Amino acid sequence: MEKVRIFIWDLDETVWFHLKNQGEVLAKLLKVKEKEIFAKQYSQMWKDFMPYFQSRKVSYEAVGQYVEGKIPILKAYQFSGNDFMEKITEGKKELEEVNPEAIEVMSYLKEKGYCNISITDWFASNQESALEVLRARPYIDKVYGCDDGYMKNNHYKTLQMAKELQLEKRKEEYIMIGDSLTSDIFFANSLGIKSIWYNRKKLPNTTSYIPTLEVNSLLELKNIF
Ligand SMILES: [Mg+2]
Repeated sequence: MEKVRIFIWDLDETVWFHLKNQGEVLAKLLKVKEKEIFAKQYSQMWKDFMPYFQSRKVSYEAVGQYVEGKIPILKAYQFSGNDFMEKITEGKKELEEVNPEAIEVMSYLKEKGYCNISITDWFASNQESALEVLRARPYIDKVYGCDDGYMKNNHYKTLQMAKELQLEKRKEEYIMIGDSLTSDIFFANSLGIKSIWYNRKKLPNTTSYIPTLEVNSLLELKNIF
């Protein structure tokens, strides 16, 4: 572990937690009366997001169109897919709760001279604004998002990222941290870098993806690094 210099943070369910009933909260923010219909379309939209964009180019326009197709009720309220994406970012505080452990550990690591970056499957600029809203922005030096062509569970895009971060020569310096075995640990395994599985709910690992470390609380990292 002594060569590790850069922590790659997952955001969803690691740096922040989704609040339950997101769909309903969002319906309220958008003043959509048919809350249940909206919530259903919204949740299906997220379920289908990754498979849909696996082999497609991700752009703001493409995601906007995808959202319009998946949440047709938006049209009745004259919201475009892009309006909707902006609302999600603005409403971050109502939709998400920052993980205080992540703040404490990121700040600790930064003070010790480590670098925190993030790789996310959403747009870097939106995630940066969200980090701002949740007061977590100062701890993360750079956010790599899907708009830069990066997505964690896409092998081709992973290779592209490896090139940019000069990972071939610097593998030892990176460690990925996240809650998802099939996304974060898969990503780290396919890059050949170290990883930390944030297993908050103490679930068994039923996948073939093996993390270097497993923690139930992020605070455990303060004893390791
Ligand atoms: Mg996550």
